[in-house]
Amino acid sequence: MAAQHDQVFFPATFQELFSSWARFPEALPFAGGTAFICSQGAHIPKLPQSILSLDKLEELRRITRTELYLELGAMVKINDVIRLGKIVPEALRLSLEGIGCPQLRSLATIGGNICFRNRRLDASAALAALDAAYELRSAQSTRWISAARFSSFRGLPAFNQGELLTRIRVPLEQWNYTAYRKFGNSLDDGGTVVFIMKNRKNMLDDIRIVFAGKGILRDKNSEASLIGKQLPLNIRETENFMERWKAFISALEEPDLFTRTGIFNFVETLILNLAD
Ligand SMILES: Cc1cc2nc3c(=O)[nH]c(=O)nc-3n(C[C@H](O)[C@H](O)[C@H](O)COP(=O)(O)OP(=O)(O)OC[C@H]3O[C@@H](n4cnc5c(N)ncnc54)[C@H](O)[C@@H]3O)c2cc1C
Repeated sequence: MAAQHDQVFFPATFQELFSSWARFPEALPFAGGTAFICSQGAHIPKLPQSILSLDKLEELRRITRTELYLELGAMVKINDVIRLGKIVPEALRLSLEGIGCPQLRSLATIGGNICFRNRRLDASAALAALDAAYELRSAQSTRWISAARFSSFRGLPAFNQGELLTRIRVPLEQWNYTAYRKFGNSLDDGGTVVFIMKNRKNMLDDIRIVFAGKGILRDKNSEASLIGKQLPLNIRETENFMERWKAFISALEEPDLFTRTGIFNFVETLILNLAD
């Protein structure tokens, strides 16, 4: 049997892409390529044997904005999202600014960040907290999935074989307060936590706390205990919230205890700031 040669495809249309993918199902989409070279010290990095470059698919570079949404093609570079300025929700902007260095951010794409195989990377917590949705396209169909569900407990992306992330739709709501923290420096562990809050006059309208690491974690029950409360919160309300949050986070197996303690302390400080 003839040896299989390295294959690099540069499809210019989705039809070309899916037809090459059907012939070489093991081929991997290649966006900025930065995740393939991370943790490699050698002069010549090792790349997958079959690559589907997304570089020529113009549609994946599109950025559109309506009153309600910002839509980003999967191949939009991280720096280009940051450069959009104030329309980018703060939680997303802070998360993207925390990725690597400026040179890396000018090569790396938002889609590559979302689709990293080993765990959810830095954009994922913000996108889940903001209720973003991802468009996944295959040769046969197109479907949307919420960012919060784009994960599994094994840390693998929630897409099927032969599916490509094509668009990211980010709701443009006004959040009054945003905080973000990153844990760990390695792409193998750690994660990011995002805290966003919205109030009308002195009433807490919405609050969302999301951690993304191996999976995406959020406890809607503890959040619901605060929604509709008057600000500043009273001590009973903060204690009640923290008890629920502690129970939620203590019951988790992931992330490790050190990171869980860090998340707990981060959230506790923010919640106490909302009290008298
Ligand atoms: C020095 C260094 C530092 C880094 N620091 C950080 C950091 O601080 N935070 C962080 O989050 N990341 C970091 N990274 C990881 C990575 O570079 C970024 O997350 C980046 O956003 C990946 O984007 P990319 O376009 O380079 O993706 P690629 O490397 O091209 O792809 C990443 C993965 O996603 C898949 N993929 C890409 N696009 C699609 C698509 N449209 N549909 C389906 N699958 C797709 C690829 O097959 C691959 O498995 C770092 C990397 C390096 C080298």
